[in-house]
Amino acid sequence: MPGFLTSPADAKIRRSRGGLLLAVVASGFCLVAPLLRASLATAPVRPSATQGGKSAGAAAAPAKPDLHPNLMLITVDTLRPDALGWVAGKNDTPAFDAYAAEGVRFAAAVSPVPLTLPAHASILSGLLPRRSGVRDEGQPLPAGVLTLAERLEQNGYSTAAFVSGAPLESIYGLDRGFALYDDRMAEGAAGAAERRAFDTTTAALAWIATARSPWFVWVHYYDAHDPYEPPQSFLRPGPRGAYDGEVAYIDAWLGRLRAGVPATASANLLTVLASDHGEALGEHREKTHGLFLYDATTDVPLVFHFPGRLKAVASREPARLIDLAPTSLDLLGLAPLPGIDGISLRPLLEGKPQAVPAAYLETRQPWNRFGWAPLTALRDGTWKLIAAPRSELYDLNKDAGEGTNRIDAEHPVADRLTAALREIEKRPAASGRGVAVSEAARRAFGERGATKSLAPPPGLPDPKDRLELHDRLEAGEDALREGRYAAAIAAFDAVLGAEPTNRFAALRSGTALLQAGRLDEAAKRLTRAVELDPEGAEARSALATVFSRLGRFRAAAPQWLELARRQPRRVDAWSNLGLALGRTGNPADLDRAVAALAEAARLDPGNPRRRSDLADAHLALARRALGQGNRSAANRALISAVEIDPGARNRAAADPKLSVLVR
Ligand SMILES: [Zn+2]
Repeated sequence: MPGFLTSPADAKIRRSRGGLLLAVVASGFCLVAPLLRASLATAPVRPSATQGGKSAGAAAAPAKPDLHPNLMLITVDTLRPDALGWVAGKNDTPAFDAYAAEGVRFAAAVSPVPLTLPAHASILSGLLPRRSGVRDEGQPLPAGVLTLAERLEQNGYSTAAFVSGAPLESIYGLDRGFALYDDRMAEGAAGAAERRAFDTTTAALAWIATARSPWFVWVHYYDAHDPYEPPQSFLRPGPRGAYDGEVAYIDAWLGRLRAGVPATASANLLTVLASDHGEALGEHREKTHGLFLYDATTDVPLVFHFPGRLKAVASREPARLIDLAPTSLDLLGLAPLPGIDGISLRPLLEGKPQAVPAAYLETRQPWNRFGWAPLTALRDGTWKLIAAPRSELYDLNKDAGEGTNRIDAEHPVADRLTAALREIEKRPAASGRGVAVSEAARRAFGERGATKSLAPPPGLPDPKDRLELHDRLEAGEDALREGRYAAAIAAFDAVLGAEPTNRFAALRSGTALLQAGRLDEAAKRLTRAVELDPEGAEARSALATVFSRLGRFRAAAPQWLELARRQPRRVDAWSNLGLALGRTGNPADLDRAVAALAEAARLDPGNPRRRSDLADAHLALARRALGQGNRSAANRALISAVEIDPGARNRAAADPKLSVLVR
């Protein structure tokens, strides 16, 4: 059934053509409203006039001579400290080095989680992932978590974000507090949305040029994320040359970003540079990030650059990314975020003695993706404990590479760190787990409760004991990306032979079967993937897609519904849910079909396709009412349809049943 499903990939390709084409975009992963705001903000007009109602209050605030400083937060995704000239002296990164040389610099700050969305949620909220509720990619920020951007917006700041990777798309909720959240991206080499540093910098500078002070801008660069494909002139020699080249390429644009800030704004500007996590590059046999909690993926650079206010100095303290927001607010003279895990490091930054608390780390990716044991860790001074089925203890002073496990030799240290770890885990979540949803969404959900999530059971395998399977999964993934479906399926099947509960192998073999057009087999395999991982959005999405393509709409609808529950701002989930409910053959499903399509239209207001789908659902209501002999209800439904989409009148006139209503 080509053309039936609305797919996020479709939207991403079209999105690269720019905001003006949004009116004809068939569907979207991401909201159109922020995109439209983005396109307006790049026009040569004052943003205060274009940012809509959300910032009207802020725009009305009178400019004062004693303004709060401006804040520029720059996060460079997937940045190992040793890719920077000022840390290891092996790469050419003059712009980053200049910021570091003039600021308070931490060559080894600590990320609480080596995953993009959770780490950025922690950067912006000051909360550990287990308390923010964002513990893996694709998990939206729950309602009630207050962020740095919201705090600054409350204080009259103009706010804007320019993000460059799919994990940070607005549907996951980090846009909260940003009057402008520009997540316009094209499809990158890996098939997911991303934006190169050139485009991100250009968009950010266009906003900064006319932004009303005080302003807060967050600029996120994603180029160093794999795959590593720097422009040829930045390619470095050696096994990590492509990775280092990406960092050097970003650095070139970082320099232009800095140079492009008007002097009036940069005279009173706090710039904070950080990464969300590192990259393993083969250390501990991990290629990228997310599987383990070794320093290779959790050490990050952090710089506070505030000329005239902070003296330049290098600090060896293990500052934490959760300290970034409270420290920034303190430096700006603003109230802290309440009840957070991070602390203000201002005393330390001002040269006073300050002990940084132990750093708590976690990764749920082994469990969520593969069905292996999740990991937690505590980094306290020289010691680092990784709590795993086979726990590890490292003396970082003597063993920076985390090569010698001291757990058996240092029982008292391990016990002390374990107790401290458990103490931190007693802290309650910072807010409810729920994400705010609209009335239409609630109606579409109906009576059916959400599927219960599975807590990791005891006895799961240790990820470090599954590296061979992990390699085979990566080989399968490479084959899938290259369209070699038979090879991909064979690789995943081999893993399932060794480990039948492997979530990734079930999901991705199902995806390969789907892409190969073997829909019945895909349905079976993806049903298994959903059983193994009821919380996984990707498995729900793939299974729902298969059922819809097979015309099995009664089976598809509950899967689209679960996807919408997990990612309630995901337009394609609502749209496909509504279309499936409209085709189940059960007239009672039509009301929820209308609600779901209304939600899709609400989330994607500039898209005429959403309106015509919704109008068609109202026409179906009219047909149902006529069948029940209720002509006045049929007339009301027809009027609603025509109000939503005037073209519905012609479609009704051409409809053998509805034509009696059209005069
Ligand atoms: Zn990242």
